[in-house]
Amino acid sequence: MSKRTTSNGTNCTLSRTDVRPQNGSKVNGVKEEEDDGRTPGKWGRAWEVDLLSALTMFFLLTMTPCMVLYFFVACSQYECSLSSPLVQLYNGQLTLMDFWKKTPDLTIKAFKIIIPWYAFQIFLYYLPDVCSKILPSYRGGRCRGTITPSGIQMYYHINGLQAWIISNALWLANAFYFKWFSPTIIIDNWGSMLWVANIIGNAVAIFAIIKARFFPTSSADCVFSGNFAYDFVMGAEFNPRIGDWFDFKLFFNGRPGICAWTLINLSYAWKQYELYGHVTNSMILVNILHAIYVVDFFWNEAWYLNTIDIHHDHFGWMLAWGDNVWLPWMYTLQGLYLVYHPVELSYIAATFILSLGLAGYYIFRSTNCQKDRFRNSSGDCKIWGRRPKIIECTYYSADGEKRRSKLLLSGWWGMGRHMNYTGDLMQALAYCLSCGFTHIFPYFYIIYMMILLGNRCYRDEHRCRMKYGSDWTKYTSIVRYRILPGIF
Ligand code: NDP
Repeated sequence: MSKRTTSNGTNCTLSRTDVRPQNGSKVNGVKEEEDDGRTPGKWGRAWEVDLLSALTMFFLLTMTPCMVLYFFVACSQYECSLSSPLVQLYNGQLTLMDFWKKTPDLTIKAFKIIIPWYAFQIFLYYLPDVCSKILPSYRGGRCRGTITPSGIQMYYHINGLQAWIISNALWLANAFYFKWFSPTIIIDNWGSMLWVANIIGNAVAIFAIIKARFFPTSSADCVFSGNFAYDFVMGAEFNPRIGDWFDFKLFFNGRPGICAWTLINLSYAWKQYELYGHVTNSMILVNILHAIYVVDFFWNEAWYLNTIDIHHDHFGWMLAWGDNVWLPWMYTLQGLYLVYHPVELSYIAATFILSLGLAGYYIFRSTNCQKDRFRNSSGDCKIWGRRPKIIECTYYSADGEKRRSKLLLSGWWGMGRHMNYTGDLMQALAYCLSCGFTHIFPYFYIIYMMILLGNRCYRDEHRCRMKYGSDWTKYTSIVRYRILPGIF
């Protein structure tokens, strides 16, 4: 069992929840009966591993790495045409071996770029939380997170904003002032770096499954389904850690990839400048809109502790490989596309896209903020200037404790059950529209986000139904729509 945590989390990382929890409160033991006829749900991993799930895992494991490679080759060798390589393969003009020869080489230089970057991010992860002292509105420092299904209260180091500022500032200084490397170093080595990131992502996933089996951080939150492929991809351990503070979920999801996102885009922009002598307004737009998303993530890093990634998902290949490979390569495709296909938008188009992106950001952020404020104050707050409407819920955690929680019925959460996804999708659409309409390639992101968030909606609601039982049914009968009020 983990060490005991003080209320400000100064000495240790995990504790059984004998403090008043953030998202659910303990009610004197299992035996307590409901007096209003509600059926409380039970919380914990709520996914049946049938043959289809196992096959899906196998598909993800084998096909998604090929997909990333395919997109990279299509962009760098086929002018971002997704169909050309397939058509050539189909017509016999290209063999799989020919295609393989077009894939990038693994180089020492790629290791020399990525390994110091990861080492530096680990170093920053441990730096004292100075930012919260300088910027009072930034909720930095040590932070109480979620309660795990087995009833453990998590605490986290929150200093992502400092990490992002320091790493981006140093990168810019080294690239433009000291000229230690070219500003295009990322795009120039992007293909080779893909191999290194794959090695890291897979190594982390293998380590995570071994750790879960032999030395889990909290065995009570470790769930093996009996299906190896499922456990490897979806994870067995809930919150793997090394020592007191090195949290796998927070670090891999929130540091090396996301910190690099803005630099990857800058590298694309500089490449465009090198190739064409100017940077297009579409590239500037993509850089700005992505930067807003990234800075927002770090500014509100404490909020991230209340998301499904931290709250429900176990740590396996999907998070390990996804954070290290999928996110940096696939989320930045618009910038890569614009390097090969510079698009100059009309003033009206650029204004429309910027407005769409900002409106999406507003909905995304205010929806997430409303839930965050509501949960952190246990409902004692104002939403859109009024006391919020609430559904009181009960559920059992895996340790058998009966707990209470609340669901918000006001603000965005009264309009739809996932309006934060709506905002996210509007932003995704804005990124894609920046690239014009000649290729499907940059639109991969919005298609992917629709699948991801649609599936996430389904998974989340399944879990919430299992967790809250009839209280959740009551909520869905009042707030009937998910993402598009009146439609879906
Ligand atoms: P949410 O932040 O919407 O969290 C869902 C959880 O919120 C539920 O499991 C439940 O948890 C709680 N909840 C649900 N309804 C209510 C309610 N009415 N009142 C209070 N609490 C409620 O989901 P995500 O973690 O999926 O998303 C967080 C953000 O991250 C979103 O904006 C999403 O768009 C974004 N995102 C972006 C991705 C990307 O790749 N760009 C990927 C995934 C997400 P509980 O058990 O606490 O009750």
